[in-house]
Amino acid sequence: MRGVDFIIVGQGIAGSCLALEFLNRGKSAVIFDEDWKDAACLVAAGVINPITGQRLVKSWRSSLAHPYAKNFYESLESQLHSKFYHPRKILQLCKSDIERGLWNRRIAEPDYIPYIGGSFKGGIFPALNDSFGSFVIEHSAWVETQVLMEALKKYFLSRGILFPDRFDYCALEVLPDGVKYGEFRAKKIIFADGWRVLENPFFSWLPYRPAKGEILTLKSSVLLPPHVIHRGNWIMKCSDDSFRIGSTWDRENLNSVPTSAARAELLKAVPSIICGCPEVKVSGHSAGVRPCTATTRPHLGAHPEFSSVLSFNGFGSKGYALSPYFAREFADWILSGKPLDSEADLSRHIKKFYKPVGICLGSSR
Ligand SMILES: Cc1cc2nc3c(=O)[nH]c(=O)nc-3n(C[C@H](O)[C@H](O)[C@H](O)COP(=O)(O)OP(=O)(O)OC[C@H]3O[C@@H](n4cnc5c(N)ncnc54)[C@H](O)[C@@H]3O)c2cc1C
Repeated sequence: MRGVDFIIVGQGIAGSCLALEFLNRGKSAVIFDEDWKDAACLVAAGVINPITGQRLVKSWRSSLAHPYAKNFYESLESQLHSKFYHPRKILQLCKSDIERGLWNRRIAEPDYIPYIGGSFKGGIFPALNDSFGSFVIEHSAWVETQVLMEALKKYFLSRGILFPDRFDYCALEVLPDGVKYGEFRAKKIIFADGWRVLENPFFSWLPYRPAKGEILTLKSSVLLPPHVIHRGNWIMKCSDDSFRIGSTWDRENLNSVPTSAARAELLKAVPSIICGCPEVKVSGHSAGVRPCTATTRPHLGAHPEFSSVLSFNGFGSKGYALSPYFAREFADWILSGKPLDSEADLSRHIKKFYKPVGICLGSSR
């Protein structure tokens, strides 16, 4: 039997950030991941955007989490000898005079000042549909998700702590002072299993609302500025002759199969961002499922009955932006008893959603 401090289930961006946090604090951890090629973390665009939504509001906890993420990814680049974090401004094309007016109001709000770059009248960007004007959002970034996840996987494998196996929930034994799984005995197990939490008997009761998303890669000779360009959908240049466009939202069909409906929806969105009807050719199409929650807040904390069984999940459409900061907060909660962010603490859902049903599965209390 091998003793470790933590077992982590899921080497997505959430589980990876947490594992790094523990290792940096001198704790031992092993990770189980079924090496799922279309996990959300591999499909994701990796944009970190501080101002989002139709109302152009500051994204939840962005003033804490985004600067933290920047430092985290930049120092991880040195540690992993890899380049994946790119500061990249967002160019928001206004869809109407109403949106333009909303932005003009934001410019006057002190909270928003650090994020506000230039504001432009219509007709400045000849290739783009900017007739209602546009503005630049600062302190945004793009994480090259596949490069980062591959580098992390290599790192964990080189340390001998990543096991490319499907975690069998039925085989977990919950003991009075920890857990046992296969040859491992750990003080705690932490589930960072993304939307597959729906199959997880310990945490599927939490109010998840996963959402499938699809992204296209398009070949095109159109000349685009280097920004992430946003107008309902987003477009991002990935090489001189290609760009990505995303993403769709579908809460019904939870799988990672690319669909012709999403392809048509995204192709239709191209001329709403790029002027005219640029000639494009689809060269890539991917789909994944975001681990969204009903409250749009993560689900962090301990199982109501099994204190050594924890959840670090529910990062929705913002896993790259939020996971580094919340991994630190979560480790502080486990190791030093610092309270969790009350909006992310899963205990707020227990009264309404949890029904003790007796978890079968070979687990014992
Ligand atoms: C189309 C799309 C676009 C997105 N764009 C962005 C974006 O621009 N910016 C951003 O920040 N976020 C974006 N996201 C969201 C982001 O992908 C998620 O927030 C993030 O991936 C969540 O990370 P996670 O580690 O919790 O889950 P996941 O990425 O789903 O990872 C979970 C991991 O757990 C493993 N796993 C699950 N069950 C088991 C099991 N039983 N045994 C072993 N392993 C298991 C899986 O193999 C997987 O590797 C996007 C998502 C999609 C789908």
